[in-house]
Parts: sequence; C-alpha cells; structure tokens
Amino acid sequence: MLIISINAGSSSLKFKLYNMPRGTVICGGLFERIDLESGIFTLKINGTKEEKHLQVPSHGFALQMLLDTLISKKIIKSYHDIKAAGHRVVQGGSLFKRSAPITTTSKAQVASLIPLAPLHNEPELNCATAFEAILPNLFQVFVFDTSFHQTMEEADYLFPIPYDLAMKHQLRRYGAHGTSHQYLAKIVEQKIIRNKKSYKLISCHIGSGASICAIKDGKSIATSMGLTPLGGIMMGTRSGDMDPSVYYYLQKLEGLTNEATFQLLNRKSGLAGVSMLSSDSRDVLEAEARGDKNAIIADELFVRRSADFISQYYGRLGGADVIVFSAGIGENSPEYRERVVRSLEEAYKLDIDLELNKKTRGTFMKLSTPKSKVKIYVIPTDEELMIAKDAYQLYQEQQNEPK
Ligand code: ADP
Repeated sequence: MLIISINAGSSSLKFKLYNMPRGTVICGGLFERIDLESGIFTLKINGTKEEKHLQVPSHGFALQMLLDTLISKKIIKSYHDIKAAGHRVVQGGSLFKRSAPITTTSKAQVASLIPLAPLHNEPELNCATAFEAILPNLFQVFVFDTSFHQTMEEADYLFPIPYDLAMKHQLRRYGAHGTSHQYLAKIVEQKIIRNKKSYKLISCHIGSGASICAIKDGKSIATSMGLTPLGGIMMGTRSGDMDPSVYYYLQKLEGLTNEATFQLLNRKSGLAGVSMLSSDSRDVLEAEARGDKNAIIADELFVRRSADFISQYYGRLGGADVIVFSAGIGENSPEYRERVVRSLEEAYKLDIDLELNKKTRGTFMKLSTPKSKVKIYVIPTDEELMIAKDAYQLYQEQQNEPK
C-alpha cells in the first residue's frame, strides 16, 4: 500500500513515497525555493537524482507537479493509488498526545497553535490543506514533533515563571524531534535491548537542529528543546539555552526589536554565530584545523553543551544503558562523537573504539568497547518512515472502525 510522507517548510517541501507495511522507499525528493523566483524540484528514484529548475509558486503547485510526475514516470497509475498521507507538524502543544487524522477539528487545533510555532505550523497546515484540495478523499494525518514528549512530568516541562502566566499562554517545554527520538528508541528496543523490559536511553539527535532526550522504557521523560526548537543545546544557527537576560541586553544595547532578537538567536547564533563563519559543522571543523580561533571555541562550546545535557540526563535517569548518536552530525562526524565521549569518559566510565568511530558514517554501529559502562551506538534516524508508519497505522484503524 502506498503512503506518502510530507515535510513542509515555509519555502520547501520534502516527500518520500513508501510501500507499507514493509517500509520500502519507492521514491523521494524535495521542492526548494517555493514562492521565490526560481525553484528547484529534485526527484530521487532507483538511485538516480533528477533536478528541475522552475518557478514553484505554492505548496499546492508543488504537490500537483509531484503527482503528475509520479504518473508520467509510471510510479502510480492514478492519484488513488496513494492511500494515505502523513504530514509532519512541529508543534502539537498539549493538544496532541499522538498522531491524528486530519479533520476540521484537528486543523483548527493545529491553527490554534500557530502562535507557538509560526514558522512551522502555518506552512505545514497550508500544505495539508493544499493536499486536501487536490485529493479530497485521501486519508491524511498530522504527525507531531512534540507528541512523543507528552509523557514528560510537570516538573520536567514547566519553566520557573509565574504559574498563572505559564498556564494562560501555554508557555512550557514541549520539545521537538519527537518522531526521531521515538524511532531511535524503537530501534534500540529491537536491536540492542531486545527482551529486557526496562531500559534507560539517552538519544542525541545532532543535526543543524539538535536535541537530546532522556528515554525510560520507551517514554520521553525529559528533552532539551523547549517551548520552541530554540531551547536546549547549541545548534547550527540557534543559541540553545542561556541566561534569559542576554535577550534583554541584546535588545537594549543593540536597539533590536523583539522580533529581530528572536531571529538573531534562531538564525545567526550557534555554530554560525560563534565561529562567525558557517553553520555547517564541516566548515567549522575545517577552519579549526587551520587554527581559526573562533572555529576552535565554537566547536568546544558545541561539544560541552551536548555533554552537559547528556550528564544531566544521566542523573535524571539514574544512569544509562545506551547512548545513541544520530542525525547529520551525530551520524557523520567522528570528531564530534569522540570529543563528546572523551569529555564524559572519566565521569561515566565510557569507552569507544576510536578506529571504528573514525570509519563510521551514516551506518548503524556499536562504538563502545566491552569496557564501557554504557553502550554507545550510531543509529541513522528516519523521521519520514516514522511518519509513514503512523499514517499507515491510523489508516488501518480507520478501516477497522465499525461503519
Ligand atoms: P537538519 O535536518 O536539522 O537540517 P541534518 O541532520 O541534515 O540537519 O544535519 C546537518 C549537519 O550535519 C550539518 O552541520 C553538516 O555539517 C553535518 N553533516 C552532514 N554530513 C556530514 C558529514 N559527512 N561529516 C560531518 N558532518 C556532516
């Protein structure tokens, strides 16, 4: 059965078409620069990559073009071959504890959360609505980045601000990357923990956006991202946690507006801000090798911020059975992994095979040696597959409902 997973940004749209329940990828790709002068449509199929440059005025246009391409390439015979679509949504607030079918009610709920994630929820909702207009009978679901973290206790998700204000404006930690952390936990259960019922996992999703999650027996108990993805560890362009008064002083001393300060912390900080070079960890690492001072401190800060959260969660969980590294940097940067592990090895008796670590990029691998008190793995994440699985499951549930 064909299921499509969709991840829409304000000017981009990523997709992957799966054959479920096996989870085989039929094709995937993305539209970039939507609503800009020149857009790009990339289609990846059977190991080949085709790129088209054209104007893509809207998400609806992109979806129509995608469906027509799938037909012209004989991947589908008609639109109805696709049985369900799963749409990634960043902010599900406290409203969604799991993925949900797209209905008038769930759309209104996602819309009500736009103030908490304006850059994400709005384009995601618009994309789902555009899909509905083209395929009105298609079964569609929302899959939220936040729902996996809805198991956190109040003492883990509250911020110490006046309680009435926190409640009034729903200002609390929601976390993000939940789909990825949940996927990683499932792989850990299947391949590492196996029959053991109880386990403690520290999951590190370290890409441009990065978060760390403390997971106990498959449930998120604490996570580094906060009200929005700006919180937590240092990232490619985001500052992560810091003394909130920095916000006040930046505004006051630089004469920045509230909006400009928020943008500065979201888009111009992190690795990009400290290195004053690039948000891409490869560029910063290269500059560090040349002796660039800002690159050296940027990388050091990046590693320490991650290590601090791993330490915190080691304490919160009362130890850890497994630490997992994933996403762009976690999967592909041996330097980052080695430095994080080295900075914690004395405290937590960690040990990895350094040669194996150097060779490991983008593949499932056990890095820890038998001497290590905690098992350390690299596991490639797959958020799109998780979205397709949820869409498939909800589709099955809907089919089995008494009519
Ligand atoms: P996001 O999905 O949040 O945009 P990714 O998970 O794609 O981010 O991660 C992007 C980061 O991963 C970049 O900093 C990039 O430098 C890093 N990265 C990707 N491939 C490699 C690689 N082969 N070696 C080192 N770092 C890599």
